[in-house]
Amino acid sequence: MQHWFSRVEDTLVVEDVGLDSIAAEFGTPTYVYSRAALTTSYQAYASACKGRRARVQYAMKANSNLAVLQVFARLGAGFDIVSGGELKRVLAAGGDPATVVFSGVGKSAAEMKMALDHGVRCFNVESIPELERLNEIACRAGATARVSLRINPDVDARTHPYISTGLKANKFGIAFEDALAAYRIAAALPYLEVTGIDCHIGSQITELAPYLEALDKVLDVVEGLEREGIPIGHINVGGGLGIVYANETPPDITAFATTMLDRVAARGHGHREVLFEPGRSVVGNAGVLLTRVEFLKPGCARNFCIVDAAMNDLSRPAMYEAYHRIEAVRPGHARAVKYDVVGPVCESGDWLGRDRVLAVQPGDLLAVMSAGAYGFAMSSNYNTRPRAAEVMVDGGSFHLIRERECVNELFVRERLLPV
Ligand code: PLP
Repeated sequence: MQHWFSRVEDTLVVEDVGLDSIAAEFGTPTYVYSRAALTTSYQAYASACKGRRARVQYAMKANSNLAVLQVFARLGAGFDIVSGGELKRVLAAGGDPATVVFSGVGKSAAEMKMALDHGVRCFNVESIPELERLNEIACRAGATARVSLRINPDVDARTHPYISTGLKANKFGIAFEDALAAYRIAAALPYLEVTGIDCHIGSQITELAPYLEALDKVLDVVEGLEREGIPIGHINVGGGLGIVYANETPPDITAFATTMLDRVAARGHGHREVLFEPGRSVVGNAGVLLTRVEFLKPGCARNFCIVDAAMNDLSRPAMYEAYHRIEAVRPGHARAVKYDVVGPVCESGDWLGRDRVLAVQPGDLLAVMSAGAYGFAMSSNYNTRPRAAEVMVDGGSFHLIRERECVNELFVRERLLPV
């Protein structure tokens, strides 16, 4: 990440643009992304796939801004979506619906119909009732739905429990033991065509071992299916690769993708297409949340640095106690003090960083680093706070890619009672 976020004469810059210039033009809080960082991490996956039967489906839940999707669509990415709304975003960004795989445990009938009408590549199905519903919708639409079944391999991804998805106790996927039976049902349903298999064991995974364990189980299922005469065209290995927020040591993208592709080939499945569904690892370190210090509030137990961004803008610390580095955009001459960096929301859980030594004063700008994934995408209007602006830096220029919301539009759909 740090390559695209550096210091020039003490000021934190993104590519060639000082974060202070962005704050001066668009205010704070503002998410700022580097186009070069997005491109570089995407290309790391794409290069590892080169010469292999493999492709990248960007998991847009991580960051679904249209301009971000546009960057990836132009680079040739497919998309992993989890709602009809995300499909509409792909279309609005100029993406091709034929490159879309539709994941998620609770697709509605309307979402299935819309995805079928747009000819998505594949539905990643997670239960027998979902298979039955999809078959019915496809029948009514006079179409055939291509399906992959998401297998829950019961593998511990060794990540935060809220972002672990491949354990028996998680709501996701079809249990490994039930996979063959589920595929037999899918293969017998007349409006479904079995095309693949998929698996996703969690997010912010920093080791290769759980991936390989899950992949081996998936390949065992593929071999079992083959013996039954159910051919599997593609193997979707999911996303989940971790990034460096503090001092984690995840494998880099190339090492991860190459290891997975090599294992598929070594087990004799190199002729099948492999899909990667990365989200965080392509956008996480490509963005920062820019915020301004409102007040410093010394206390006897803790000192607080109150900023204008809050848990509604970046919920990861409040939700998962996630760590984000926080840096002053221009270090000033104030005394360095240990602070909890908190927002204005009325919750004690509203913090962005704890125990941070910062030399700041009111009015200073701070950058919350590694905020490109699950940052804006998970933001809300809690406390009737308009959501932040988003800006994309591209070399020496920068573009507003989402206007800051204004308060009036937040309650425009609400109605007063007649009396
Ligand atoms: N694929 C699926 C099915 C997911 O549920 C997720 C995230 O939860 C992803 C891909 C992307 O994961 P990450 O952003 O950790 O790469």
